[in-house]
Parts: sequence; C-alpha cells; structure tokens
Amino acid sequence: MTAAFPSFTNSSDVGAFEAIVIGGGPAGCACALWLHKLGVRALLVEASDALGGLQRRSPYENLWIPGLMGHTGEEVAGALHRHVHAIGVTCQLNSRVRRIEAADGGFSLRVEGETVRGHYRTQHLVIATGTQPVRGHFRPAHNVAVGPGYPMENLEVRNCKIAILGGGDNAFDQARFVLQRGAKSVTIYSRTPPRAQPGLQALIPQAKVCIGPYTADQARMTVNGEVFDAFGVMYGFAAQLPDGLPQDLELKNENGYIAVNRQGETVLSGLWACGEVTDYWHPCVTTSAAHGIQVAKQISLRLGR
Ligand SMILES: Cc1cc2nc3c(=O)[nH]c(=O)nc-3n(C[C@H](O)[C@H](O)[C@H](O)COP(=O)(O)OP(=O)(O)OC[C@H]3O[C@@H](n4cnc5c(N)ncnc54)[C@H](O)[C@@H]3O)c2cc1C
Repeated sequence: MTAAFPSFTNSSDVGAFEAIVIGGGPAGCACALWLHKLGVRALLVEASDALGGLQRRSPYENLWIPGLMGHTGEEVAGALHRHVHAIGVTCQLNSRVRRIEAADGGFSLRVEGETVRGHYRTQHLVIATGTQPVRGHFRPAHNVAVGPGYPMENLEVRNCKIAILGGGDNAFDQARFVLQRGAKSVTIYSRTPPRAQPGLQALIPQAKVCIGPYTADQARMTVNGEVFDAFGVMYGFAAQLPDGLPQDLELKNENGYIAVNRQGETVLSGLWACGEVTDYWHPCVTTSAAHGIQVAKQISLRLGR
C-alpha cells in the first residue's frame, strides 16, 4: 500500500441517484463499492478530503482485519480510498450533508461542499457517518488531545507529566504509548473502576491509576489540583449523526445511535444505516465493512437487481 491519494472528479450530475451513502469510512466505502458493483446508481458523500474514516487517525499497525497484516490504520484508509476510486464509484469529497427531507417516496438532501452545493434526490439513503471522540468540556489544544491516534501522537510527551482521563482500553493503550515515547510520568484518572482489559492494565505497572471523582481544569492544566504538562482525554466515542435528520421519527436508540433492523433499515422505509453510527455490532473495520455490504445487498434486492 502506498500513501498516494488519487483525486475524485467532483460529480457534475447533481440530481437523482438510486442510492446515496453519507460517510466514507469502512462502512460507507464497502456499501458504495458493493452498490456500484451490483449495478445501483450510487453516490458516496464524504465530509473530509479523503476516504477511510477513523482509520485515518491511526498510525498504529492494524492487526485485527482477518488476512491483512503489516499495515497501519492510515494505510488501510489509503487502500479504501484507492479501491473506491479505482472501481469508479461516484464520490463527492469535502462535502457535508446539511439537510435531509423525506420527499416523493425517497429523500432530498442538501449537500454543501467546497465546489458543489446542491440538492440531490435519492430513493435509498444510507447513513454511515460513524462516531467521533467524546470531548467532555475540553477543547483540543497543543497540550490537550481528544481521542486516540494522531492527536495523542502529536502531543509533546518526552520528560513530561501526563494525565490520561478515562478508564477504558484506549486510556491504558495511550498511557502505554506515552510512556514508550519517554513521558516522565503518567497518571490515569478513572471515575469508576477501569473497564480496560486486565491484560492492558498489567502492561503498565508504572502508571499511577486514580479511581474516583476528579476535577480536571484545562485553563490551569490541573487534575484535583495537581499540575500536568498535557492531558489525553479518552472518554470513548459517540455517534456522529448528519445534520437535519427528521426529528419526528424514532430513529435513535437509547444510546443515541441509529437503530436498525437485521437488514440495516431504520423505522423509515428506504433510510438505512451501517457501521459504527449504529451500535449493531462490536465496532471495528471488519464489522463496519460487513454492515455496509449487508445494506448494499438489501438495497439492490429492493431495486430488483
Ligand atoms: C486510533 C484508532 C485506531 C483504531 N484501530 C483499529 C484497528 O486496529 N482495527 C479495527 O478493526 N478497528 C480499529 N479502529 C476502529 C475503526 O477505525 C472503526 O471501527 C471504523 O472506522 C468505523 O467505520 P465507520 O465507517 O462506521 O465510521 P468512521 O470510520 O467513523 O467513518 C465515518 C465517515 O463519515 C464521515 N461523515 C460524518 N458525518 C458526515 C456528514 N454529515 N456528511 C458527510 N460525511 C460525514 C466522516 O468524515 C467519516 O469519514 C480504530 C479507531 C481509532 C480511532
């Protein structure tokens, strides 16, 4: 896998599609690829400047995709981008879906991008917008990283005193990486007993773990009054929903994720969701892609292909 990201030609055919997929992470890429291969006229809309989703945040080797080893998350993202491009899927990068309306037995979307602003119509709409790290009351800054991956790797940690906030797998993983990169000390603050796998916790006996309530102050860079050089905020992930979803429908489950049935369809016929924006399966690249494929196949069947 190489790092080059080929450019998509922005779609000039603003108008009607049989299916539109919102979000170009593993779920949306897999869904759009399969729709395209199954003969469905589909458009993939991605808010950022390249495909790959959360994998673009990861400099770490991804050892969790069966049969694929030796590549970082960022390289996996690059491979998704190049695959979708090579297959010829119509794709709109740097474009955010701003408004969704159910209309004429399908959907009307307002998409705003760098070069294209317009309304698209489609019979089937797929939400594959994934998740984003929970920020709490923190603002990302040179000394505050929110979520794992590149934001943490970009923190200056050598000979520094680091506070990691959160008690899950990411908190302990990132504490370990920070120690490997030469941090002077790491303190993990977890309000409840850490949920991280015991094996991960055992890897860093030198990290101090404080369990119980704490107050972290970004302006003073203190936790419970103790001063730190940098914070890593590892509060988990929350569903990232596109703006303008119909509010009058029971689209979300109690955790704020899009609720889908076994086929991947929401309560609204023709409105589908796949990947991490649903919490249907354990979140990872393979399940997200599989979910996207499931939805693509159901849409093609519905269209009689
Ligand atoms: C640091 C890190 C390391 C990881 N390592 C691994 C690993 O080793 N193995 C593994 O299997 N998994 C790993 N994961 C998890 C994996 O990356 C996710 O499970 C997977 O990316 C989820 O895919 P998705 O397509 O559902 O969502 P996402 O990857 O979140 O993609 C959603 C996409 O939707 C776009 N979007 C959002 N809103 C809009 C909008 N309104 N309009 C247009 N586009 C929009 C976003 O820009 C994004 O590109 C890791 C995650 C992180 C953060």
